[in-house]
Order: sequence, then C-alpha cells, then structure tokens
Amino acid sequence: MTRIAIVSAMQEELAAVLALMQGQQKQTIAGRDFWQGQLHGREVVVVLTRIGKVAAAATATILIERFGVQRLVFTGVAGGLHPSVQVGDVVVASEFLQHDMDASPLFPRFEVPLTGMSRFEADAGLSRELASAVRLALPEARLHLGLIVSGDRFVSTSLESRALQAVLPDALAIEMEGAAIAQVCADYGVAFAAVRTISDRADDAAHGDFMAFIQTTASPYSAAIVAALLDRLT
Ligand code: SAH
Repeated sequence: MTRIAIVSAMQEELAAVLALMQGQQKQTIAGRDFWQGQLHGREVVVVLTRIGKVAAAATATILIERFGVQRLVFTGVAGGLHPSVQVGDVVVASEFLQHDMDASPLFPRFEVPLTGMSRFEADAGLSRELASAVRLALPEARLHLGLIVSGDRFVSTSLESRALQAVLPDALAIEMEGAAIAQVCADYGVAFAAVRTISDRADDAAHGDFMAFIQTTASPYSAAIVAALLDRLT
C-alpha cells in the first residue's frame, strides 16, 4: 500500500484532521512535526508545510525522501481569482503555475528555468478522487477544476488580483504553496493533488475575509474532504 501524505500550510487548515488521527507518532525534522499514524484506517503522514513556496518545497522533499511518500494531498484555503470563483467555493487543481517566476528575457515569463515548463500537472487519478470526495463531503459547495497559481505574496488588493487575472485569465485561485510542491513532485515522479476552499477574493477585503474563514470554516471543510477521500482511495 502506498503511503499518503496529507498536508496544509497552517494549523487552522489541519487541526480537525490531526484531531482524528489514531496511534500517531511525532517526528520532528527541520522544525516541522511529522505525524505518522492511522486516519480512517489508512497509514498516513500529516504535516504543516508552513507558508510559502520554499517552506512547502522543503516539506515535500522531506516527505518523499524520509517517509517514502508516493501520494501527496494538499488541503487548505486560497484566494479566488477567476470571477466565477467565490468565497466558500472549492477548487481542485488540474495544474499549477508560479505566478512570481520570471527569468525573462532568458526564459519566457512563468517558465521554471531548465525545465521547459511553466505549468505542472496535478495527478489525474488522485485529483479525480479528490473531486469526488469534495462532492460527497460538501454537496452544497460549488466545485471548480482548473489552474491554481502560487507565489510568495498574500494577494490582498484588487489592483494586484486584476493584474494577475489579465495575464493569467484561466487561473481559478491563488495561494502560496501548491506550485512549489507540484514542481518537487514532478522531479520525483510522486503523485500530487490539491484542494483549496476559497477564503477570500484576493481583493481589498481579502485580509478580513481570510481571517474569518480560517477561524470558522477551513478546518472542518478539510476534515470532511480528507475523510471522504481516504474512504475512496485504494
Ligand atoms: N496575511 C495572512 C498570512 C497567511 S498567508 C495572515 O494575516 O495571517 C495566506 C495563506 O492562505 C497561505 O498559506 C496561502 O496559501 C493561502 N491564501 C489564502 N488566500 C490567499 C491570497 N489571497 N493570496 C495568497 N495566498 C492566499
């Protein structure tokens, strides 16, 4: 049975998942607490990546190298970027891009140098299961599938979110970790999927919306989705 990692950036996104774990053992590596144990009868590793691309990439590398993880699932919150993606909606990633990667004119804007790629795909099978899990766990929520963009910025002005929408019109949501993990998983050939509940619209009201959402909604949403996913996976 392949080992699965369940990760979030922040405690508020993962608290309810951690509370459901059984027989867990903690191992601290690079200042992160990795919890190994059972969740819904499956062997899992659960960890907080911390916020941002470097923190997320380092955590993914440790999960793969030290824990032999072959499937990695991110659950958390994000800002809605596409006009159709509203607070409370859920986005499952089909692909990821680093919106702050720009080595032009040496390489095209957004392309990760020496990879020839700007977009990194989510694992199709795992993402399909994740989308089905969302439909089961949160039947009322509006579900979108598509591009998630990541960068080392909490985008909280309408000016910046509009500029990003103009240059990346198919981007559904914006966050700070997914594309970094996707790049590491692509390097290792590890399956990656991500689900993000929309906490804010990355606009002038984003900070207040974000704080309210993570305090009340993010954690139970994550727990419900993860439970439905683990029940479905073989
Ligand atoms: N300024 C925040 C810091 C948290 S960063 C605060 O006051 O606490 C936001 C976290 O949620 C990141 O892990 C990121 O992945 C996600 N996120 C949610 N909305 C976002 C947005 N509008 N822009 C970027 N990341 C966002």
